[in-house]
Amino acid sequence: MNKQKKILFVAGEVTPIAKVGGLGDVIGALPKALTKIGIDAKIVIPKYGTIDEKKYPCKKIASAIKIQFYGQDELIDIYSTFLPGTQDQIEVYLIENLKYLSTGGICLTADASSSGAINECQRFIFFTKCVAEIFLNTSQYLEHIINWSPDILHCHDWHTGFLSVLKKIQEKNFVTNNIKQKILFTLHNLEYQGKWNPQEIFKMLNIKESDWPTLKERTKNQFADLNAVQQAILNADLINTVSSTYAQEILTPEYGEKLELFLKKREKDLSGIINGIDTTYFNPAKNLDIKINYGLEMPKEQLFKNKQENKSYLQKICNFKIDSKIPLIGLISRIADQKGFDLIIKIFEKLMEQNLQFVLLGSGCKETEKTLAALALKYQDKFSCNLKFDAKLANQIYASSDMFLMPSRFEPCGLGQLIAMKYGTIPIVRATGGLKDTVKNYVMHSDLQINNLNKGIGFVFEEYDENKMLNIIKKALEVYEDKKVWQEIMIYDMKQDFSWENSAKKYLELYKKL
Ligand code: ADP
Repeated sequence: MNKQKKILFVAGEVTPIAKVGGLGDVIGALPKALTKIGIDAKIVIPKYGTIDEKKYPCKKIASAIKIQFYGQDELIDIYSTFLPGTQDQIEVYLIENLKYLSTGGICLTADASSSGAINECQRFIFFTKCVAEIFLNTSQYLEHIINWSPDILHCHDWHTGFLSVLKKIQEKNFVTNNIKQKILFTLHNLEYQGKWNPQEIFKMLNIKESDWPTLKERTKNQFADLNAVQQAILNADLINTVSSTYAQEILTPEYGEKLELFLKKREKDLSGIINGIDTTYFNPAKNLDIKINYGLEMPKEQLFKNKQENKSYLQKICNFKIDSKIPLIGLISRIADQKGFDLIIKIFEKLMEQNLQFVLLGSGCKETEKTLAALALKYQDKFSCNLKFDAKLANQIYASSDMFLMPSRFEPCGLGQLIAMKYGTIPIVRATGGLKDTVKNYVMHSDLQINNLNKGIGFVFEEYDENKMLNIIKKALEVYEDKKVWQEIMIYDMKQDFSWENSAKKYLELYKKL
């Protein structure tokens, strides 16, 4: 019955074709899980210059379609490929235009999260305009070229924020032919909003402020930027974010990134659905990046032994003392203000006084990287600082560590803690957003008798404070001493179901509301 529901995912990235971060993973995985429960899902992204066509052969399905931008006709070609591993079931449309979409990779600026640079603004507003002209049912191309008409455009993050405004403006202009498609806007991280000069955007799109009321409502100050995420919040049919707690948090000034009042207006249309992880890839029993596989299907003693072997291997790589008894803490993250590095740096000396080893993998803010690199020089024997992006090393750290640290200031969902738990690596997290929704604080042994299968056990601190963090790390180190209890927590966490199947069912319910 759901077969008829056609969903077009509109996004800036999709793993593995074009990825910079967690957003790509979601777009690469959720459509697969939805297809399994009867949804007909497709994806559209820009055709970036860096896409490897040998790996992902792209077939041209339309040439020289005219899209007006800055009052001129720009030509686009549309290509089609399939999401790998879906037996040609999930089609991915790629829009090519050398001027705006197809030069270079996904990010045009050094900061992968930048949503303020003018060339990124042009790129994604142009992309949004292309999608509006091709995939809304007012389009002349839908029937002849695409031959598939979506019911819902599922838009993701600031890259696609303007689509809902363009739809409203088109709807206003087509009095007799209402647009049938609904828009669901998913907020993956409210910090990145896409804010630019309004006059520039009006020129790009050939629209006026008076064309749609929310274009005026943007701010009290008429010279302030136009904001892609704010416009989506005001105009999308439904909005969701990636955990229930984050959906609540963003209604407050502390987490709302100055958009809380607009979100409040849409409170009844706002919900939270936790992300899943690709449990085929993040599977310690199968992952080829790790030294030796282990999993729940083997005898427990073997599992612990193999995990231990991974730990020894990582200790060796990090030039640490190879000792099974020294607790090993892993941390893998973008180095950004959000992720709690200020807390770690503040108590670093005290942390290093503990009996532990600490391995970090991450990149981002250059200033923080410098501070961390200096600390690594000082504490070479117990702190390994790897300032790079390295998927293989990431898997090895997940597999080898005893604990996984995520002291985030805010965390819309967080994937690291879910992956860690699948690898039997116990998370130490702050109670915020998705971390709060997926990790329960260990208090006593009887906790391990209650299993709700989508909340693991770890060590959780509430207040964003370095001493609170240090205390919970010390508590984890103390519990680690009791090998039997620790191993029970490991097994408990490995059993949790963080697959996309659960979340896909919740998205299906949301689509039904549209
Ligand atoms: P965010 O999306 O805010 O960056 P998440 O926890 O949701 O944070 O997802 C981050 C993902 O990226 C995780 O899968 C993590 O393992 C991975 N990751 C982050 N930094 C690195 C890195 N330097 N090298 C390899 N993988 C990384």
